[in-house]
Amino acid sequence: MEFAAAATEKHEIVIIGGGICGLATALALHRKGLKSIVLERSETLRAVGGGIGLLPNAWRALDQLGVGSRLRSMAVLLQGGRDISLDENKERKIEHVIGESRCVKRSDLITVLADELPIGTIRLGSEVVSIDLDSVTEMSRLLLTSGSYIDAEIVIGCEGGRSKVAELLGLKAPRAFDIGVFRGLTTYPNAHSMPHEFRRTTKGKIGVGMLPITQHLINWFVALPTHLLSGDKFPHDPKHIKQMTLELIKDFPSSIQETIELSDLDSLSTAHLRYRAPWDLLLGTMRKGTVTVAGDAMHVMGPFLGQGGAAGLEDAVVLGRCLDMAMSGIEGNNKKEKIAKIEAGLDQYVKERRMRVLGLSTLTYLIGIIVGSTSPIVKMVVGLAIAILFRDRAFHVQYDCGKL
Ligand SMILES: Cc1cc2nc3c(=O)[nH]c(=O)nc-3n(C[C@H](O)[C@H](O)[C@H](O)COP(=O)(O)OP(=O)(O)OC[C@H]3O[C@@H](n4cnc5c(N)ncnc54)[C@H](O)[C@@H]3O)c2cc1C
Repeated sequence: MEFAAAATEKHEIVIIGGGICGLATALALHRKGLKSIVLERSETLRAVGGGIGLLPNAWRALDQLGVGSRLRSMAVLLQGGRDISLDENKERKIEHVIGESRCVKRSDLITVLADELPIGTIRLGSEVVSIDLDSVTEMSRLLLTSGSYIDAEIVIGCEGGRSKVAELLGLKAPRAFDIGVFRGLTTYPNAHSMPHEFRRTTKGKIGVGMLPITQHLINWFVALPTHLLSGDKFPHDPKHIKQMTLELIKDFPSSIQETIELSDLDSLSTAHLRYRAPWDLLLGTMRKGTVTVAGDAMHVMGPFLGQGGAAGLEDAVVLGRCLDMAMSGIEGNNKKEKIAKIEAGLDQYVKERRMRVLGLSTLTYLIGIIVGSTSPIVKMVVGLAIAILFRDRAFHVQYDCGKL
């Protein structure tokens, strides 16, 4: 498509979506001296989901972004994790909660990332409704709900699982696991007594996870197969969410029920878990011209390893590094040459990220089948596949995205 001349704003780099990945990407670029704008459709920066578990690979990325120290002061260090089966009356250590693991309030993570950005970087209330590529100028034209246009040399889609940029690249829509999650935060004005560890308690098909954020704050979630939910499966009204959660965990120990009873109403949310199929990640096109995707827009995955957000932080660091290298090699005003260099930089980014997120998404896909399936045979076969394919159960936390 070729655009008719119109009065539009022009920017070198436009990031769509001001979630964890969009803000981290803007920050990575800023640290490299590259200016970008972030278009976020909400009127405020959203932090849905209460807390987020951050494992060693996430902290490496946060340190590269220069925000690790500030965030560390906001969350206690977790000393490992425990699985408690109420059916079997057994406890075992959770293997992947190793090294530096903390659960951070999502709103703290978002605020800390946003605080480091130059004023004017984030444009709230800016929803992108369509993106077109101009075949002649090789610029992208973004149409916002306000009716205004923005022309961009580079577009990075960080708008989550329902990404318009992913659609433009021809990526297939994410699929849903048969698993739902209810989650929230509970504040204890006089301090809670939970040890500094991740606790996952299961009974039947329902799992309850709890992670302390501080001495006064606990992040919790309840996960279950969707077939156990009836009526409005994923309500939005906080009172309804709380009432449904309490009903779901009525056979769990009273300490767990009490945490959910005391939860902060405005922190409650539900989620139907989604994933981009591993084979779509392996074969899908992740760059078209100077347009690419990052975060959930590229690789939405089940949260079973606590890696979706971390992978988005890694994307930001790698993308910042690759774009900086590409753009610092640009000399003179030759537009074609500039575009070719940017495209090569984005290709390098996609190459570095594809195999990394493929590993994460394959393992979370297989775990999702085990959690969501009702067939013991399916669970056994998939469990065997995991044991063969993923002998090193800590590969995902040992990963280092490298220097920014
Ligand atoms: C139950 C659950 C638990 C999880 N636990 C963990 C965990 O412990 N550790 C971990 O690392 N990860 C975890 N994750 C994954 C993590 O939450 C996600 O990977 C992460 O939030 C994705 O960030 P993002 O910025 O890519 O996308 P999002 O958070 O979805 O942000 C996208 C942003 O784009 C905006 N947007 C969308 N469309 C448009 C548009 N057209 N125009 C402008 N703006 C737009 C949205 O408003 C939003 O602000 C969990 C996920 C779930 C569901």
